[in-house]
Amino acid sequence: MNLNELTIKQAREGLDSGKFSSVELTQACLDRIHDHNEELNAFITVTDELALEEAKKADEMIARGEQKMLTGIPYSVKDAICTLDVRSTASAKILNNYIPPFDATVIRKIREQGAVLVGKTNCDAFGHGASNEQSMYGPVKNPHDTSKVAGGSSGGAAASVADHQCLFAIAEDTGGSIRQPAAFCGIYGIRPSYGRNSRYGIMPMASSFDTVGPMAKTAGDIAILMEVMAGVDEKDATTVADVVPVYDEEIGKLEIGNLRVGVPKEYFELEGLDEEVKNAVEAKIKALEEAGATIVPVSLPHTKYAIPVYYIAVPSEDSSNLGRIDGIRYGVQSDMEKLYDTYAHSREHGFPEEVKRRIMVGTYALSAGYYDAYYRKAQQVRTLIMQDFDTVFQDVDVLITPTSPFPAFGIGEKKDDVIAMYLADVFVSPASVAGIPGISVPAGMSKDGLPIGMQIIGPRMGESKILQVANVI
Ligand code: GLN
Repeated sequence: MNLNELTIKQAREGLDSGKFSSVELTQACLDRIHDHNEELNAFITVTDELALEEAKKADEMIARGEQKMLTGIPYSVKDAICTLDVRSTASAKILNNYIPPFDATVIRKIREQGAVLVGKTNCDAFGHGASNEQSMYGPVKNPHDTSKVAGGSSGGAAASVADHQCLFAIAEDTGGSIRQPAAFCGIYGIRPSYGRNSRYGIMPMASSFDTVGPMAKTAGDIAILMEVMAGVDEKDATTVADVVPVYDEEIGKLEIGNLRVGVPKEYFELEGLDEEVKNAVEAKIKALEEAGATIVPVSLPHTKYAIPVYYIAVPSEDSSNLGRIDGIRYGVQSDMEKLYDTYAHSREHGFPEEVKRRIMVGTYALSAGYYDAYYRKAQQVRTLIMQDFDTVFQDVDVLITPTSPFPAFGIGEKKDDVIAMYLADVFVSPASVAGIPGISVPAGMSKDGLPIGMQIIGPRMGESKILQVANVI
């Protein structure tokens, strides 16, 4: 096995026992990136020099016996997350030259562990999309089949892990951007509860939906990463002050005989649900039942409204958040004579189509006369969707659903069909609307050799339980 193919746990053992150094491990990842990036396009920026410097420091920490869980482990960060002194474009040309003067809180915590940043990953611009085709730096290709998308918006993050260009990735999930690409690329990715991890330094898309989480090769690695990332942050007033569970210790403690798994019928009756996806997920549910879990059919009646609610509320928040990206405060400025033209030209050329669409839809939904019909109505239905989940979680511990109705689709296949692209989020948007956690885990392969993902959803702050279930699967 090549060093870059190791999990975090395996690499930790190898580093601590002196089998190899972080410099060697890091070099293996950088070599892989340079061999494959032209084709897969997972990285926008590769930080060779910084990575080798950090790796050297990590080796020194290990030599002094001061290592922590992530010391010397190479990772990537989605380009919509701020990294100190490392270019962060959000995959939009308007931030082509933006170098943040600070680290996002979660990145600061990972850096303090002595982990090694190998680069910044491609995504749909500002997280808007489900296929990575809304990146202004070109789409990411799926490592399992380069004619297919890697998913979105965190396609580069997913491909970077699936293709063993690094050992884990940090990404952002507003409405599925961690879970869906994880499913398409055959890896693990968790969207934590809203408020579990600090959003400080995550470029805001929709502030009441945005979360930041890890992607990795095993559920155990996700548990390690969540432990490092989670917790209250004075820089994000929406973070929750609860004690962070020791996910890594709790993950093996599932008593499967006591586990109650809800299977929401709305998710399996969807028109357009691929037969192979349905069968793969049902087979996993059956296996859990055979292992002693109780399977409970449940109903989430407002599921069908999750997409319309999401695509009104999110653009509304988006249109406000993206107001700050105007060519004046940050990034690339068009040199125009009149001030208005500077704003207009910078934004016209600096944003891709989908970002402009969101700004227009959101501005419309918030405008006087339409606010009550759209934005307020969406908020009311959002509450109903949350109540659906609250009700079922009185009876079950977790819910199991497919992550996506289909495996990865072809590059170009849905790009010009906006509604079809939005509908790709059908299984990932409900948990986002409700602010609850979900993890995508590999559930097999299609006959065409494409990964199939299964989603485990938990109640608010229920990360530990979904990690336990992910681990036994
Ligand atoms: N497909 C979703 C969207 O376009 C994903 C967004 C996200 O999670 N960043 O809004």
